Amino acid sequence: MTHECWTGKILWVDLSTGSTNEESLDTSVYEQFLGGKGLGAYLLYRELEAGVDPLRPENVLFFLTGPMQGLNGPSVARWTLVTKSPLTGLYLDSHCGHALGREIKKSGYDVLCVKGKADKPTVLVLEDDSLRLESAEDLWGRGIHDSTRILRERFGDDHIVYVIGPAGENLSLIAAAGSELAHQTGRGGPGAVMGSKNLKAVVVRGSGMIEAYDSDAISEVNREVTTSWKDMATDAWNFDFRRYGTSFLIEVSNERGQFPTRNWQTSFFEENEKVQPEAMHEWYSGQHLSCPQCIMRCTHAHRVADPRAPKMAVEVTSEYETEAMLSGNLGISDPYILLQLNHLCDDLGIDTIAAGSVLAFAMEAFERGIITEDDLGFSMRFGDGAAAMELLQMIAGREGIGDILANGVRRAAERIGKGSEELAVHVKGLSVAAWDPRGKKGMGLSYATAEVGASHLRGWPSTTDKPISSAIDVVESMTKARDEKHLTDSLVVCHFTYHLPLSHNQKIRLLNGATGLEYDEESVKVFAERVETLTRLFNVREGVSRKDDELPPRFWQPVASGPAEGMRSFVDRADFEACLDRFYELRGWDKNGIPTDETVERLGLKDIR
Ligand code: SF4
Repeated sequence: MTHECWTGKILWVDLSTGSTNEESLDTSVYEQFLGGKGLGAYLLYRELEAGVDPLRPENVLFFLTGPMQGLNGPSVARWTLVTKSPLTGLYLDSHCGHALGREIKKSGYDVLCVKGKADKPTVLVLEDDSLRLESAEDLWGRGIHDSTRILRERFGDDHIVYVIGPAGENLSLIAAAGSELAHQTGRGGPGAVMGSKNLKAVVVRGSGMIEAYDSDAISEVNREVTTSWKDMATDAWNFDFRRYGTSFLIEVSNERGQFPTRNWQTSFFEENEKVQPEAMHEWYSGQHLSCPQCIMRCTHAHRVADPRAPKMAVEVTSEYETEAMLSGNLGISDPYILLQLNHLCDDLGIDTIAAGSVLAFAMEAFERGIITEDDLGFSMRFGDGAAAMELLQMIAGREGIGDILANGVRRAAERIGKGSEELAVHVKGLSVAAWDPRGKKGMGLSYATAEVGASHLRGWPSTTDKPISSAIDVVESMTKARDEKHLTDSLVVCHFTYHLPLSHNQKIRLLNGATGLEYDEESVKVFAERVETLTRLFNVREGVSRKDDELPPRFWQPVASGPAEGMRSFVDRADFEACLDRFYELRGWDKNGIPTDETVERLGLKDIR
């Protein structure tokens, strides 16, 4: 069976009833929203009423492909999850490596949409146009690695597995889910949404062929990209990226004064060298668990002992965000402990950024006497890896104080009080990713305005300056970079294609070659604005406005030491407010951050709202 790059069909599954139905989407929906993030934003806005509890059966998990899945493009073995976040209560998209999306497309669907709640632990199995629900009672309580291994044995390696661990089952709001052992939808609690539906795993295999509108155009871009990647072999940055994946950024971030250290009390880790990739080489296993169809192959594995069963060796795939949040931010400089913490998070199914944030919050709260040994059952100082491992397991199991911390730093601080709100480093409830905005001018604006909260993947300002002067001159570049991300995430190609390089123009050629549309520079810009405004409309419907586009107290305090010593996120509050004004103006939103009627109409969103 052959499908075009868009099959035109999405598949709905109601876990409450076990029923399925196919929906055909109008061509105009694809033209306006493309796929991935854009299409997910459209479907989420259309399907959910305001105020739906993300952990109720009414919430929907959208497993989305884009125009490129199943085609022979560069770094396209990716897919997108869109849902309402239980952590923030807002729009959430998360972008995962490996081939689940390709298999959904080859099964004949652009999107798999899952709602309802199964009455017992369940595995959803999609094989071409046949969908069935199987019992997962034997898997419930098992970690992600064990579950993946069992599911592979049961279904075969040609099936792609996506699964949650105990944290998701126990509805931890910082629960991730993992695919093929090395790839996660980490942020915002998608694992908890899976758990709330009693959905342990999704397993997919498709056998259809996907055809581009113009396969020569796709091949041409592929050839160009492969050639330029080879030519870039001597470029220092790309050499390090090939060799270490994003781990090479550990040194870069520290040198820039952006490395989260001891719950962001500073942005320079004096023991940074001990956790750089060279220091971890001893445990490097040589395994590549990278996404298929990628010449960059950034995913590197290390072999360590499982801290819960020291005789068992496990493969850990590490990357910058995880390494920074679980080393410097916890004051931990032992690379072996860092890798073990990484493995625990991946196996229990906890977002590593949120883990590094909530553990650091607990360490600082302990050192300041806000929480005590009586609350924890042990002491919890910065640098204590054993305590961090203990607490991670309590979070996944919602045991003791782990029950409070499982809800992320915002809610934990609200519950604990005693001034701990000052130590909770988040935006809209989402823990800040591992780049301190006090080391880069305008970066705080990206965190403050991103629809999902403080993600590092929502456009960076184009500058290497620190916040020593007004950031007003970099607002436009941040907005432009975010637009590029909306295109990348809707086409569904890897974010790291900026290393290839896969240029803006090549992305447009891929889009048009896959679909037969005639997007150009201007219409792509309008597309990106449409996606940004639609996700904002979703959040506005949930009560978001200017008051929520805010930075945590810590980022208004001067950095204690290192290259960014003395820096705040912005030179002053007035500059931040001026940057927000400028950003809203560029987006066509009013002073309160609400999209104007004129903007909604201009972007073709009037009928949706
Ligand atoms: S660069 Fe890394 S994350 Fe991106 S597609 Fe390649 S292997 Fe996957």
